[in-house]
Order: sequence, then structure tokens, then C-alpha cells
Amino acid sequence: MFLTDHAWKRASQRNFTEEDMQFIVQNGERIRRAGAIFFRMRHKDVPAHQRRDENICNLVGATVVVCKCAQVILTVYYASDFRKVLRKAKYSQRPIYCPCCQQEQYVI
Ligand SMILES: [Zn+2]
Repeated sequence: MFLTDHAWKRASQRNFTEEDMQFIVQNGERIRRAGAIFFRMRHKDVPAHQRRDENICNLVGATVVVCKCAQVILTVYYASDFRKVLRKAKYSQRPIYCPCCQQEQYVI
């Protein structure tokens, strides 16, 4: 999986490393919405043996948005209200262009 320029920018602003995002994609809850795949990290998604790992626990509440082609990370953020995120994504006016499948995705 690789990142769009937008995702790199957001990740560095929000202090997410590539490993963090990979971890969320592997362990988070997967939801398809607005033509993209959202991976949301909840406390219960943290593997039991990693619940004392501070870095891992800091990822709870984070969402990684992956293009439906599953090759590209479009963006990453923290959201307290995930339903709001999904609503926003649906009506977003600023699409992110996926360099892999050439599709524009409406994510925030
Ligand atoms: Zn794509």
C-alpha cells in the first residue's frame, strides 16, 4: 500500500508513521462508505498482548481511509464521532485523486 501526497501531509501533521497506518489497516474495523474503505481503530481492536503498548493505544480513535482499489491510503485522522465523519465524507466537495486506479474519492 502507498500514500497519496495528501495522506503524507496529513500523517506528518498528525504524527502517524507508516507502521501506525499499516497497523490500523490490519487491525481496525473495516467499513465501506462513500466509495472508499474506512479503517477505524477502537480499543477492542487492539490485540490483547498490545494493550499496554502506549504507541498502539494512542492509535485508538484514529481512522485510515483507503481507496476502494485497496492499494492507496488516501488520508488519516482522529475522529471522536465516526458517524459524523462518514456523513461528511458522503458530501465532501474535495475529492482526492487516486494515482493507482485513477478515481477521485470523496473523503475529508
Ligand atoms: Zn484507487
